[in-house]
Amino acid sequence: MLDIQITQSTEKKEKPKDESHLGFGQIFTDHMFIMDYDKGTGWHDPRIVPYGPLELDPSTAVFHYAQEIFEGLKAYRTGKGIQLFRPDCNAERFQNSAKRMSMPIIPKEDFLQACCTLVRMEKDWVPSAPGTSLYLRPFMIATGTGLGVHASSSYRFMIIASPSGAYYASGLKPVKIFVEDQYIRSAPGLSGYAKCGGNYAVSIRSGEFAKELGFDQVLWLDGVYHEYVEEVGSMNIFFKIDGKIFTAPCTGTVLPGVTRRSVITLLRELGYTVYEEQLSIEDVMRAGKDGRLEEVFGTGTAAVISPVGVLRKDEVTITINNGEIGTLSKAMYDTLTDIQWGRTDQHSDWTMSIE
Ligand SMILES: *Cc1c(COP(=O)(O)O)cnc(C)c1O
Repeated sequence: MLDIQITQSTEKKEKPKDESHLGFGQIFTDHMFIMDYDKGTGWHDPRIVPYGPLELDPSTAVFHYAQEIFEGLKAYRTGKGIQLFRPDCNAERFQNSAKRMSMPIIPKEDFLQACCTLVRMEKDWVPSAPGTSLYLRPFMIATGTGLGVHASSSYRFMIIASPSGAYYASGLKPVKIFVEDQYIRSAPGLSGYAKCGGNYAVSIRSGEFAKELGFDQVLWLDGVYHEYVEEVGSMNIFFKIDGKIFTAPCTGTVLPGVTRRSVITLLRELGYTVYEEQLSIEDVMRAGKDGRLEEVFGTGTAAVISPVGVLRKDEVTITINNGEIGTLSKAMYDTLTDIQWGRTDQHSDWTMSIE
């Protein structure tokens, strides 16, 4: 058990009155969690303090060599109290990300305790309008100073919290996807399975390019052959072809999403065969042309399910399910959000009360 010291903020911020326009990651709560690590001492001084800026030396390691990892999960206001969705999976993934980036491990129970304690303290910040939640952003940075290239000897773990809006203010709207066949976000041996800022830094350019062309996101292909589908934007991706479901295997290049894992379980319970196997973009485009590509959707904590309406590769554009959300995508969205907002007893073991 962490002995978390609490310093109450003296000025309470005004909470947003209109919960229909919260957006994502724009507003932050009154407090944040901090814990420091030093080689030799280990993790120490867990504390919750007023939310505010950090003061760091310009030579701090994270600014130069990007030793940084993060997580993303939500606290939901439900009929059964405030709940987190599978936070143990985030705790575990944070450890795997830390190992990849030569950063110290945080015991899972400490990660969970920190999340729960912060949410409990900020519970009035958990919004209640339909589809809204309190987004938690745990992250760790290397805080050692000096420009030598080596693992830092000190780190800071923090959690900030942000009330976030319903992702689909106007319903589940299918997105238009541009297949990125030039740049890659990951390759075997690299850090694709780690949730680290560096993976995002290298992906931003492609996203901007797709937007310039009128698309919402990019579809990433594998880093070796530029042939097999891997992820969409910062989501995992699923394809329904001839009644069968395909998603890229988590063999190191793909981020193992908590939503991905949950959707696979739900699909198998419904009797679907889910292939966690390589699927080439050519097969996807051919299935699209032949009318066998029934549904495509992305999965992630922010959007839960993001239906894909249009795929563009080179000069070829295919429209999926007439650009409308498919029945399976909708069913997955409904089931997952029912579990997250406590509207069903199905998979109640996936939720964790903060009390
Ligand atoms: C976070 C993330 C996902 C989705 O993971 P969830 O746990 O479902 O939110 C997928 N791909 C990338 C690259 C991510 O960073």
